[in-house]
Amino acid sequence: MTEIELVFLGTGGGRFATITQKRRTGGIRLLSKNFNVHLDPGPGALVYSLEAGLNPQKITGVLVSHCHPDHCNDAGVLIEAMTRGMTQKRGVLAAAHSVLKGNENCEPCLSKYHQTMPQMVVDAEPDVSFNLGDLKITAAKAKHSDPSTVGFRFETADAGDIAYTSDTEYFKGIGKPYKNVRLLLLCAMRPAGSPWKGHMTTEDAVKIVEEVSPEMAVLTHFGMKMIFKGPASEAEFIQRKTGIPTIAAKDGMRLNISERIQTLAVKKSVRGLDEFFKAPKH
Ligand SMILES: [Zn+2]
Ligand SMILES: [Zn+2]
Repeated sequence: MTEIELVFLGTGGGRFATITQKRRTGGIRLLSKNFNVHLDPGPGALVYSLEAGLNPQKITGVLVSHCHPDHCNDAGVLIEAMTRGMTQKRGVLAAAHSVLKGNENCEPCLSKYHQTMPQMVVDAEPDVSFNLGDLKITAAKAKHSDPSTVGFRFETADAGDIAYTSDTEYFKGIGKPYKNVRLLLLCAMRPAGSPWKGHMTTEDAVKIVEEVSPEMAVLTHFGMKMIFKGPASEAEFIQRKTGIPTIAAKDGMRLNISERIQTLAVKKSVRGLDEFFKAPKH
């Protein structure tokens, strides 16, 4: 079985978690010998990628679920890295329609210049499928303030499937495109008892986990209320309710997917961020 590794370059989401960087907002890197995909590169994706020792020039795909800055802010600069500084047509850009073309809510988030350099650009409307390395990726409907928002299902060659909900509220049928994945990543922004239209609470997450029935669920993309309440206890709540092993992601956490899904210890930074910010004093 091909080994797959997920690196959480950020576990924060929403305006205030982003502005304060109470949790990082760099998104998630999916790695195997056949692909190197950056999912939802929010602010910090480039810097935390370098800090973690993950060379952004090795990226083969950039995926953006919707037009909000905590998901798309660093997409342009990662495309520059993926295309060797815009000198080679290389890699895949798959993004929600709003990100590429704009919609009634927002302007496009990526310039034409950045949209021309990837080898393949996918307008990721719900149910659109495409291949990236040996992954088959399918976009899935979400219900969020950006109406073009999509989640993704990743079908791996031989290590089972992974899904990512993106920002969404619960709706009937949300779990269907993700049914029976091994690993379900949920953007659980709000704790139980704090609903917010267009966003996921822990109670919504319980319903989605029950519908999907994954081998394991991982919560990420925490807003301020969730951070203060404690994502780990919210994960325990979901596990108690559903019987499905559920954990809350941490910044820098790595997950290894092979015969088993295992969390690896948070690695100490390869390069301290101090190094980046060392500037002459004057
Ligand atoms: Zn978000
Ligand atoms: Zn959003």
